[in-house]
Amino acid sequence: MTVSKKIEITKIAKSRFSQVNFHQLQFGSIFSDHMLEAQFINGKWKSPKIKPFGNIQISPGCPVLHYGQECFEGMKAFRQKNGQIVLFRPFDNFTRLNNSAKRLCMATISEDIFINGIKQLVNLDEKWVIQGNERSLYIRPFLISSGEFIVARPSKEYKFFIITSPSQAYYREEIKVIIEQKFTRAAKGGAGFAKAGGNYGASFYPTQCAIDKGYTQVIWTDSKEHKYIEESSTMNLMFRIKMLL
Ligand SMILES: *Cc1c(COP(=O)(O)O)cnc(C)c1O
Repeated sequence: MTVSKKIEITKIAKSRFSQVNFHQLQFGSIFSDHMLEAQFINGKWKSPKIKPFGNIQISPGCPVLHYGQECFEGMKAFRQKNGQIVLFRPFDNFTRLNNSAKRLCMATISEDIFINGIKQLVNLDEKWVIQGNERSLYIRPFLISSGEFIVARPSKEYKFFIITSPSQAYYREEIKVIIEQKFTRAAKGGAGFAKAGGNYGASFYPTQCAIDKGYTQVIWTDSKEHKYIEESSTMNLMFRIKMLL
């Protein structure tokens, strides 16, 4: 990956890499050494910073905690056979994050902070990008409203973060799914297309009901008739209708 403008980096004192058992990774529960943070204040984004992965401090009056003005992305970096690290279509994630941000009435992020930020963060933690079948470094950029107020209105301040997590296949075996005919994930005119945390929060109860019945996931159907297939909770769906060979 080629990298442009340098981001200010504070390195971790001691890498946690050697403590990780890469043979038994539970999706999204181990995080690599560093993270990126950028702040939107007084109408503009300040220079992002890369620092050791760690807790963040926010006020109990931070609006994201009350009104869920939040959106995120999910993407991966892979180590190819020749050792090179590649990102899978990061510009599409960049575009989608900003489409989500607009729907949630949030400040959008610049390409420089998003793309350049991911590249520099992944380059710094490059040893966390393990080579191998179904192995990758999962990248989680996310945008939250910040500040301190609980008036129900969009914030004027935002924070953008990127954290990364070494991962294996999300599901390793066949899964049983149920076609959901009562609950709805997304409705016309709603925010279902936005990758917003709240959409996930609202999907957990129907998913838990499915788990209680012995399924792993639900397949969502349209909100009006529950007749048309939409997608499965955490993934897109594809059907093979006809075998050509
Ligand atoms: C992110 C996401 C997906 C997967 O989309 P990709 O384009 O594969 O990243 C599918 N469904 C929902 C609800 C999502 O949030």
